[in-house]
Amino acid sequence: MAMESVRQFSAILATGAILGQPPRAKPVQKNCSHLTASRLIKLVTDCLDEIPDHRPNQCKNGIPFGNFPKSAFAMMQVKMPSMLRFDSERADPVRVHNLETLFDVIDGRVPCDTRMREVMDPVSPHWLQKSFKKLFARVQRSGYLQKFEFPIGRLKNHYLLAIDGTQIFFSGKLSCDDCCTKNQGKAGEAFYHQLMGDCIVHPDQKVVIPLAPEAIVRQDGCTKNDSEKSAIKRFLANVKKDHPYLKLIILLDGLYADGPTIRLIKSYGWHYIIIAKDGNHGPLIEAMDELDKQEKVARFVKTDPETGVKHWYRFANDVPLNKSNPDEKVNVLDFVETDKIR
Ligand SMILES: [Zn+2]
Repeated sequence: MAMESVRQFSAILATGAILGQPPRAKPVQKNCSHLTASRLIKLVTDCLDEIPDHRPNQCKNGIPFGNFPKSAFAMMQVKMPSMLRFDSERADPVRVHNLETLFDVIDGRVPCDTRMREVMDPVSPHWLQKSFKKLFARVQRSGYLQKFEFPIGRLKNHYLLAIDGTQIFFSGKLSCDDCCTKNQGKAGEAFYHQLMGDCIVHPDQKVVIPLAPEAIVRQDGCTKNDSEKSAIKRFLANVKKDHPYLKLIILLDGLYADGPTIRLIKSYGWHYIIIAKDGNHGPLIEAMDELDKQEKVARFVKTDPETGVKHWYRFANDVPLNKSNPDEKVNVLDFVETDKIR
């Protein structure tokens, strides 16, 4: 019996002429001396020093306020498995020396796990935005960013910005004022925080360049949960504010393949590649099938000579996105992959 597994996805595209050989990364003459770890860490710790001290009376004889965010940053930078582990090693002379010299933790005075939470929890994540902006400016000035240019068709000097939401905290017991709530007031009530993360990516580059993420948390004065759909509006507005001249192609998953998100991206002058899955975007696939019948789609099939895996492509321009957005026309690349028939 023939066994064939099929995987399908479609991408809706803002740009034509994507088919063909992907562009190679540019060879770039770059000045990386400003991109050494110590210089980049210094740039971040300088920004963290600007966070205002919110403690009553600023705890004059206590741990300097800047030591809190800088210790937290160091904990993440050295990839500590937990805050408790960081806490247990904060008396280690080698660790203290590194914290003082590399992370500018004054007098090596590292807060304990509990105090770190008390002092850092109320700090708005927006205070971290400046470090991301400065790091990006440094990467841009060094010439390193050019390696990430990804021209598609008529689009030159564009960069791929991949965005997705991720959960960073979930508990059935612990919560704070910023927590979003699942099953509020019912059995199985739980609390969570999410983050909208993003990176400039390039298929030929092993590293990625993050821009400032957006916290998906309950917004001030709001009784409803925050959501990825609301967060993307704040996120894109911040990217435009911080990087008004950056030419972007926004990469998103199927959750965002809708009229409002596409119009928002276009309003900022950017382009997009968004995944649209069969199950959630039936009308889009039906519109493709209709164009197919009218022989208005380009298609080709490629078979991998070694594995026998077949790649089926079809492509059309100006396909209506869905029934509620008939005037929103998108370019669609429909892709199906089938295993070798055994
Ligand atoms: Zn919380």
